[in-house]
Amino acid sequence: MHAEADRLLPWYVNDTLDEDERQQVDQHLVECLHCQQEVAWLRNVREEFATQAEQDDVSPKMQHLHRRMRNPRRASPTSPVWQRRERRLAWLVALQAAVILGLGIGLLSQQHVPYRTLSAPGDKGALLIVVFNAQAREAQMRELVRASGARIVGGPTAQGAYVLRVPDAREASARKLLAASPQVALVEDLSAGGNP
Ligand SMILES: [Zn+2]
Repeated sequence: MHAEADRLLPWYVNDTLDEDERQQVDQHLVECLHCQQEVAWLRNVREEFATQAEQDDVSPKMQHLHRRMRNPRRASPTSPVWQRRERRLAWLVALQAAVILGLGIGLLSQQHVPYRTLSAPGDKGALLIVVFNAQAREAQMRELVRASGARIVGGPTAQGAYVLRVPDAREASARKLLAASPQVALVEDLSAGGNP
């Protein structure tokens, strides 16, 4: 049950789980200190990021771009214009993710909590930024994350970007799998500095 609950926590914090799943997590949280702390950490990251985004003039640009990519790929799958826009968006998403990661690391250094290393940004492995399509369902997102061998370590941002960590050995296959999914609008390797 722990593994299942643990996997659901980002969506639990985001308050987008089905009622059944939310109750499962609620029940598990009563008896699992690790998951309680994980929820606290995820909430911290979210709150800190929300505060930061309000002060940050990148945010309106991101929102504008995000609105423009509501129909990603379908509009013009191979258009160079779209590719340029996607690159620019990726860069901005990576920038925001870097803010999240910075905050995560900041929280880490303030708090000296050993179990946090299970999922904290300080873990080993590649970092991917993933933006799911607005119409993607939570269950589809979770299945994709699971199938790619990744773990959510941050997000969602106000713009719906998640930060995933994936073992280095699986980075290429995870990226390929995510990029090929119709549920994914964008995937970028943050470890590589946001350059595809
Ligand atoms: Zn647990």
